[in-house]
Amino acid sequence: MPAGSPGLIRVRVPAKVNLHLSVGPLRPDGFHDLVTVFHAVDLTDDVTAAPAGAVSLTVSGEGAAELPLDAGNLAWRAAVLLAESAGVPARAALHITKSIPVAGGMAGGSADAAAALLACARLWDLDAGPAELTALAARLGSDAAFPLLGGTAVGTGRGEILEPVDCAATLHWVFALADFGISAGDAYRELDRLRAAGAAPAPAGDPDRLLAALADGDVAAVAAALVNDLEPAALSLAPTLRATLDAGRRRGALAALVSGSGPTCAFLCPDAAAAAQLAADLTADGVVRSARTATGPAAGARVAG
Ligand code: ATP
Repeated sequence: MPAGSPGLIRVRVPAKVNLHLSVGPLRPDGFHDLVTVFHAVDLTDDVTAAPAGAVSLTVSGEGAAELPLDAGNLAWRAAVLLAESAGVPARAALHITKSIPVAGGMAGGSADAAAALLACARLWDLDAGPAELTALAARLGSDAAFPLLGGTAVGTGRGEILEPVDCAATLHWVFALADFGISAGDAYRELDRLRAAGAAPAPAGDPDRLLAALADGDVAAVAAALVNDLEPAALSLAPTLRATLDAGRRRGALAALVSGSGPTCAFLCPDAAAAAQLAADLTADGVVRSARTATGPAAGARVAG
C-alpha cells in the first residue's frame, strides 16, 4: 500500500548504541546480568502497518534480503503478540524500510518489534499505553523495550529494566557498517570463553563516571568513559574490526568502540563537521563498506505523519 493510503500508520524507530555495557557472569537461566547505558541515535527504520485481512510482511532497504518474512521476524511476532494480548484478530500488512544494519549490534530487530507494536496498536485503535507496550516489548527481547523510550537510559536485569537519564549534550557519531553480522549469542559465549581463559576483563561495573559526564554535557569526558565488555569478544570473533577502530581513532574520533555485540563500530566525534569528514574518509580509504553519521539522543518510536 503506498504512503498516504487511508488507514496506513507509519512509525519511525531509532537504533541504539551502548555507551556502557557491563556484562555480569552467566546466570543459571543462560542470561547475563547487564548494567548498560542505552543511547538512541537517529539512524532509523520505518515500519508501516496498513489494513489487511491477515498478517503479512515485506521488507526493503539495508540487509532486507537476509530477513525472514514470517513469524521468524520480530515485527511479525510483535503484531501477533499484541493481537493475542488485546484479544483482537491479527490483521495488518506490515512493511519495514531498514536503515539499521542487520545483526549489527544496534538492535535493529528489536527496534522493528517496538515499532510494529506501536503501529498495530494505532491501526487497531487499541487503548494500549506506554507501560503495556513496554511490557509486551520486553517479552519479545531484552533490547525491545528501549526503542519505545528512546533518549538515553540505564538498562539493568537483561537490559529490559529501564531508567531514563539526562544527556545534556548532542553526541555526533559515525557508524561503520560491516559486510558481515555477529550473532549476539555468539558474542556472549565468546566473552564467557575468554573470561574463563583469563583473556577478558571482569565486568566494567556501574556507569557513574559516564552518567556524570552525560549530565554535564562534557563530550570529552563521555568519550573517556565509554566501555563495552563485549568488545574483546567481538574482536576475537572478527579481528579485522581492530583495524577499523584504529583507523577511526587515527582520523580524529574522540573515541571508538564496538556497538553492542558488533560488528558495527561507533566513533564519537567532536561535532557534525568532524563526523561527516570521518565518514567520508573511512569510505574513501576503503576501510569500511559504508559509514553513516547520526546524532543522539534521538526520540523513541513515534508515529510519523
Ligand atoms: P542486538 O543489538 O539487539 O543484539 P543486532 O542489532 O545485533 O541485535 P538484529 O539486527 O536485531 O541484530 O537481528 C539479529 C537477528 O534477528 C538477525 O540475524 C535476524 O535474522 C533476526 N531478525 C528478526 N527480525 C528482524 C528484523 N525485523 N530486523 C533485523 N533482524 C531481525
